[in-house]
Amino acid sequence: MRATLIYGAGDVRVENVPDPVIKQPTDALVRITTACVCGSDLHPYHSMSPADGPARIGHEFIGVVEDTGAEVSNVRKGDLVVAPFAFSDGTCAFCREGLHTSCVHGGFWANGDIDGGQGEAARVPLADGTLVKLPVGADSALIPSLLTLSDVFGTGYHAAVKGGVNPRTTVTVIGDGAVGLLAVLSAKRLGAEQIILMGRHQDRTDLGRTFGASDVVAERGEEGIAKVRELTGGQGTHVVLEAVGHMPAYEQAYGVVRPGGTISRVGVPQYEQAPIGFGSLFGGNITLTGGPAPARAYIEELLPDVLEGRLEPGKVFDRTVDLDSVPDGYRAMDSREALKVLIKP
Ligand SMILES: [Zn+2]
Repeated sequence: MRATLIYGAGDVRVENVPDPVIKQPTDALVRITTACVCGSDLHPYHSMSPADGPARIGHEFIGVVEDTGAEVSNVRKGDLVVAPFAFSDGTCAFCREGLHTSCVHGGFWANGDIDGGQGEAARVPLADGTLVKLPVGADSALIPSLLTLSDVFGTGYHAAVKGGVNPRTTVTVIGDGAVGLLAVLSAKRLGAEQIILMGRHQDRTDLGRTFGASDVVAERGEEGIAKVRELTGGQGTHVVLEAVGHMPAYEQAYGVVRPGGTISRVGVPQYEQAPIGFGSLFGGNITLTGGPAPARAYIEELLPDVLEGRLEPGKVFDRTVDLDSVPDGYRAMDSREALKVLIKP
């Protein structure tokens, strides 16, 4: 089959790889009908050393089950399914607590002998715990929105849930990428009324307003922090959802959080060292939370809103490519010509 490989920074190729086969009785084979490029795929696209390549890539997909191992019972041949960005058994202590990304038997796509999502097919380990059947056809107009349940919507929602967003909280969202915009949608879904979106790209922040942002702050750094404080009577917001992952975004987060408030991070941190002392977190009694979203945990909760058209998270997709054009998709997202690229293998 054909699949996407990353050879190093700026070097993504689509090549022939071995066809996936059932290896474990808990596996399913899925023919991928829709996939996409993630903002987090841009991190290796910026910095991966050629010594670490080539490696498979991609972790968001919808597809049709082609075959199942003997122990798989929740999905069957012909089902259209969505896969979250981590696979999990659904039965261990962490899965039962809704923390599927810490599943003791689970793991991540495009890692070791695990297929990536940006290809024609994938072997899905732990299919019963991982896959969710979708009650629509593979050509449904809802597919882009359903695909966001694989990662970006679940990740934005996780940020808002971990941040404790509710109708009484004010919220700042840092980042106008797909996750940031869906963090806005999630904060709105959880009842927040003042949602300040910090982002510089007007076409994106306009979509953020559609999703529920009440204010947009284009300024960054000290200027951006001052603007958010001005919009909140000098106090900052109860919750900050950080959807970028770089240090300036973290600095902005503790700059705009209200004393007693919570910073919830879902942008994959590109740093290990960060301020936590009196001038950042301690002085204001700030809670720091967040992490990789257990997207699987939120699919059943968010699915009805998508199926019934109440929420349209798929609006974050603004370009579609075929499999051979995936390298162009990366370039378009990297240069910010595209917000999020849909792949039709
Ligand atoms: Zn588990």
